[in-house]
Order: sequence, then structure tokens, then C-alpha cells
Amino acid sequence: MSRDPRYDVLFEPVRIGPVVTRNRFYQVPHCNGMGYRDPSSLAMMRAIKAQGGWGVVCTEQAEIHPSAEICPFIELRIWDEQDMPMLERIAACVHAHGALAGLQLCHNGMNAPNLYSREIPLGPVDLPVASGFLDPVQARAMDKRDIQDLRRWHREAAVRARRAGYDIVYVYAGKLFGGPMFFLSRRYNTRTDEYGGSLENRTRLLRELIEDVKDAVGDRCAVACRISVDELLGDQGLHASEAHEIVGLLAELPDLWDLTLSGWENDSQTSRFSQEGYQEPFVRGIKQLTSKPVVGVGRFTSPDTMVRMIREGILDLIGAARPSIADPFLPKKIEEGRIEDIRECIGCNICVSGDYTMSIMRCTQNPSMGEEWRRGWHPEWIRPRHAQARVLIVGAGPAGLEAAMMLGRRGYEVTLAERGVQLGGRLVQERLLPGLSAWGRVVDYRASQIAPMPNVAVYRDNELGVEDILGFGAEHVVIATGAHWRRDAVARALLAPVPTDPAMQVLTPDDLMQGERPAARSVLLYDDDHYYMGGILAERLATEGFAVTVVTPAAEVSMWTRNTMEQPRVQRRLLELGVRIEPHRVLSAVRPGQVQVACCFTGRLHTLTAGALVMVSSRLPHNELSRALQLRTAQLRDAGILSVTTIGDAAAPGTIAAAVFAGRRYAEELGVSAVPGAVPFRREVAALAPLDLSALPGMPGSAPRPGERD
Ligand code: ADP
Ligand code: SF4
Repeated sequence: MSRDPRYDVLFEPVRIGPVVTRNRFYQVPHCNGMGYRDPSSLAMMRAIKAQGGWGVVCTEQAEIHPSAEICPFIELRIWDEQDMPMLERIAACVHAHGALAGLQLCHNGMNAPNLYSREIPLGPVDLPVASGFLDPVQARAMDKRDIQDLRRWHREAAVRARRAGYDIVYVYAGKLFGGPMFFLSRRYNTRTDEYGGSLENRTRLLRELIEDVKDAVGDRCAVACRISVDELLGDQGLHASEAHEIVGLLAELPDLWDLTLSGWENDSQTSRFSQEGYQEPFVRGIKQLTSKPVVGVGRFTSPDTMVRMIREGILDLIGAARPSIADPFLPKKIEEGRIEDIRECIGCNICVSGDYTMSIMRCTQNPSMGEEWRRGWHPEWIRPRHAQARVLIVGAGPAGLEAAMMLGRRGYEVTLAERGVQLGGRLVQERLLPGLSAWGRVVDYRASQIAPMPNVAVYRDNELGVEDILGFGAEHVVIATGAHWRRDAVARALLAPVPTDPAMQVLTPDDLMQGERPAARSVLLYDDDHYYMGGILAERLATEGFAVTVVTPAAEVSMWTRNTMEQPRVQRRLLELGVRIEPHRVLSAVRPGQVQVACCFTGRLHTLTAGALVMVSSRLPHNELSRALQLRTAQLRDAGILSVTTIGDAAAPGTIAAAVFAGRRYAEELGVSAVPGAVPFRREVAALAPLDLSALPGMPGSAPRPGERD
């Protein structure tokens, strides 16, 4: 197939200062939870994006100096020669597949608590650091010498970046991550010298840094400036008209403008709260202020939207972080006219949770994300089958669908049997919840990939029992039968069922999703799950006119959604809908019309009135089939069944991302014999530095200390 000529414009080369990108697909810098700890995983992940056709592939922020590091978060560092090999490897991986490599230099300024380096953080003024964990650390107001140092650190880091092979080097002043943004900000920068006051003064540092970096490497590298165009704080924050003025002041200075919203939660909004292209109103008009190319993001997955961005003069380059994570081959698929093969990002921000939890990034749609180097997985290819074999998969939820699709690609003869008439498992109902319709793409993508496969047969409305499985004639059986929500309160806070009077109506999320409703208007929703389900059901019930009280042992509703950066939006929406929130409370007794709750700290009891209780506690796996089959060893053997494997929620209920991963893992590992006891993935362990056991620190004759001369 060839590409639709409507999309030709996306494949035009664009000059960025001294370099030229082969097309308009630009993977903007994004964090990934790998950073300096997992450099080869990181390098391979970037390599695959270059292979997938992105014209530019950038690193995440690379901390330029120990005076600004954001431990415990794991980013890149470009402090000295020690960091060079990993940075060189990333650039080489990107170049190997024809893309330009960008490196986002970053001095985090007063975003950095410096918990690792223990240096005093630097900012425009004396204030507590703006870090993630309310760290008891204050930044020091920078004096002129600090500013000179900062400029020098940028120059030195830029020279290293060029030496490491990068084509585009950033000066980062966005999202309150890039330290110069604190200088741009009226509310942070109350200085009275030439770096504070007027917008021109507040822009001075950024201007100097761009000039310095251009001076240092501009002959060979493009210098990009990344700023935030709005903080969504009204007059309190940096807003669009100010951002326009900043771009107006520095218009021709950088070789590229990279536009973001601030903070990160506004930049990477989820599909629950915003649509594709949500940044358009903020970036519109900026391109007209400069002749330099402009890149912006907005969860772009539709090539028509991308083309419109170019044609309407809003952007020159289509920026993407999440769409490039969900589908590293998005550009190639557009180029090859395979639009229906695009694995569209669902906007769930599970990827973001990797950075927030300091673990290797994962993606709901792309289970190979983060596993490219350590497990050898690829987003598009999988090794051929080990031998001819029939595989029966029971259950077509995310786990079963992914397993069927990837086993199909390997060439196995696959049968997927689903009890329901629709494919999708938990997502059949969950995609109907408020704001979650885009999550249905997990099902639609897989169902549409499976449909034309001659070796994958799908049977809906087909509940299988033990005898059906034994009689089917498959060599391998996969049980992907999912899970259901518990009706008691057993989860984290309570490990035994709470005493419950049967006269009280108790509903589970499954009941509500299947259309049952509380018989009374006042509803108490107990949430000891803490991800999206409790908050979303409270929203649904409140919208339908129920008077909802959310009781949770946590401090906030849907507390885990902090890791997807949704929590403040969830809480605001519920409060605006009139939902009452009772934090730090655990269920104690359920009586008709009343629920007794205990304070998590004092145990003091409170009674709340409610006509119905919605229990969002934990889930139980549907593992009856697996258990029954395990007991039938002889029959399994007689039936020629070589393996029975339980995957996804049926093994242990988890996220949709975990179920998709489980399906992929099964497909990857079928027919492969594992080395007993071996760690199932590669990892990098820090190389040990020489250490003289006879010379203890501080003793006469011990070696000079780091950063000191003899
Ligand atoms: P996961 O997230 O692990 O994929 P889901 O709960 O989303 O799990 O999907 C499990 C699917 O398995 C559901 O669609 C359910 O209807 C189906 N299922 C459960 N038991 C059977 C069975 N005995 N035969 C066929 N399908 C089943
Ligand atoms: Fe998109 Fe979710 Fe994947 Fe992130 S985890 S890239 S938001 S599908």
C-alpha cells in the first residue's frame, strides 16, 4: 500500500537551524522511568521510534549539573565524562535508523530538591522548592555569580551533547521543570534586579542561555527552546498572552520553538478530561511571531488532525510523546497507507505512572514499551511459532485478545472463545463509563487486527467449561477469564468482611456497570481501591442525581491517580458535582440506612446515613476453570493438552495494562524453554569503581576527594 497523498505534507523535510529533519514527525522529550538507571533499555526504546519513522527523537530531560537533580525521579544526567557513554549510545541508536537525535538539557532550578547531591537548590528568590513531595528544602536566591555559573554549565553541557552526537540541543524553560521558567514567572520571580520585574527582565536569563548555547554549539547543532505557553492559572500564572510576548521578544533566537502547557498534568492531559488537540487554543498564533519552526503536542493520533495543524499554520512539526509510546511506528504506518494499523494512544497516562513510580515505563496499548532491550520485544514483530500447535484461549478481555493477536502473528492456530456476545471483557462495560470511551481502542485495535487472520477463529457467546476444554483438541490452553469485584470491603484497610446487615443494599462496580442502581437517593461509596473506579462511579451516580458520599481510608479520592496526574481533576469534578468526601475513614459496620465508619488514626466512630452502599474494594479472580483443570492431570494428558496457563485478571486482578502485558508475555514465551532460576529480563548493574580497602576515608594518605586537586 502507498500513502494517501493528503498526508504528503507530513513527510516534507523541515530545516531546523543547521540540521534537516526527514519529515514532520517529532518525538518531543519525554520521561520514561529508565534514565540513568536503565540506559540500554532507554536507548533501544528510542531506536525503535527512529525505526518507526519519527524524524526527530529526543531524550528526556538530562540534568546538567548536581545543583539541580530531582532524585528520586530517574532522568538522564550530563554532569561529566562519566555520563557520556550512555548519552552517546542513545544518540547512536537514534541515528542508526535515520532520525535526528535531540537532547533536552535541563537545570531544574527550584524544582530540584537535590536529595541525592545535597547541594542547595537555586531559584530566582528564597522559597521552598516546587518539588513533588513537599520536601523540607528551600532554594536560595541566585546572585550574579550563580547566574554566570548557570550559563557556564549550559555551555559546557551543550558542548558535551554535541560531542555525544546530538543534532538538537534544548534550552528548557517549561512546565516548572526547566529552571529558567521560574525566572519567567511573575509569581516566582519577584527580583528587583535586571532579571526580575518587567517581562523583558524576566526573559533575560532565557535569552542569555539560548545565546550561550548557540554560541557553544550552534554551528553544528540546532538549539531548541522549550517553553510553556499557559499554566491554566489565569492571571496568577504564565498565560497565553505573556507567552506570545516572550516568543515575540526572542522570536528568531532559537532554531526551534517547542511549546508545552504547564505543569505536566496540563501538558499531558488524559482522555478522561480532554480531547485530541486540546493544546490548539494555546499555541495558535505563536507560529506567526517567528520564522523558526514550531512544534507542539496534543495527543495527536489522527493524520487528518496533523495535516490540519500544518495547513492552518498552527504547527510546523507534529510533536508527540504518548502517541509515539503507544505506537512507535505511527509515522511508518501513515507513510505506508496503513492507517487502520495505528495503535492509538488511549490517553490513560499509565506511561506517566512509570516516571512517577520510578519504574520502567509501561503502556496500556503497547506492551513492548520498556521491554525492547530487556526482553527483546518489538512493537510490530514477534518471532515465528516454535512448532505447529493449536492454542485455545478462554476469554476475550484485554489479556485474551492480546494473546490471540500475537499468537496469530506467530502463526499458531488459535481459537478464542468468549462467553459474551461482545469482545473486550471488562472493557465492554468500562468503555461506557464517563470519559473512558477512548479506552475502547484497546479492544477495537486488537479485534480489527485479529479479524482478517485466517489462523485465528473467534467464537462469541461461547461459554466453555472443563469438559469443553478437554474435548477441544488444543495442545495449549490459556485461561483469561477475568475477575469480578468483591461485595465485602476486603481490600487494603480491611482484611476481613465488614459486618453487614442484609437489609442494606450493597452494590459492586459490576452491578452498577450492568445497569443496576441504588434504590435510595443517598449513596455511600466506599473506595479502598484508589484507582479510577471509585471516582468515576461517584461521578456517574452524582450526575444521575444521587446524593453521593465517598468514604475512603486514603487522604484523597482516587489517590493512585496522582500517578496518572489526574487526581486533582477527579477531586475537583466530584466536589463541583456536590459529592461529599470523607477521607481517612474505614468501614466499621453496615446497618439498614446507616454506615458506621472509623477514623483511620483514632478509631473514633462516626455514623453516616445512606440508603445504599457501593463497595469499591478489590477483585477476585475467575480461576475456577484453572483450578478444575489442574486437578485433571490424567484427562489433560489423554486430551493431548501440554499446558494450561492462567493469565491477566484471572491470575491476579490488575490494570488493563497488566492484562495486555500478560497476553503478550504468554505469546512471546510459548514454546520457549526458560533457564530455571534465570532472571527473565536483562538488566544493567552499575560498574564498581576502584575502592582501596586499606585507606579509609579521612585517614592520612587517602585519595584526593572528588572535585578536588592534589
Ligand atoms: P482480562 O483483563 O484478564 O483480559 P477480563 O475480565 O477483561 O479479563 O476478560 C475476561 C473475559 O473472559 C470476559 O469477557 C468473560 O466474559 C470471559 N469469560 C469468563 N469465563 C469464561 C468462560 N468460561 N468461557 C468463555 N469466556 C469466559
Ligand atoms: Fe497512551 Fe496510555 Fe500508552 Fe500512555 S500508557 S501512551 S496514555 S495508551
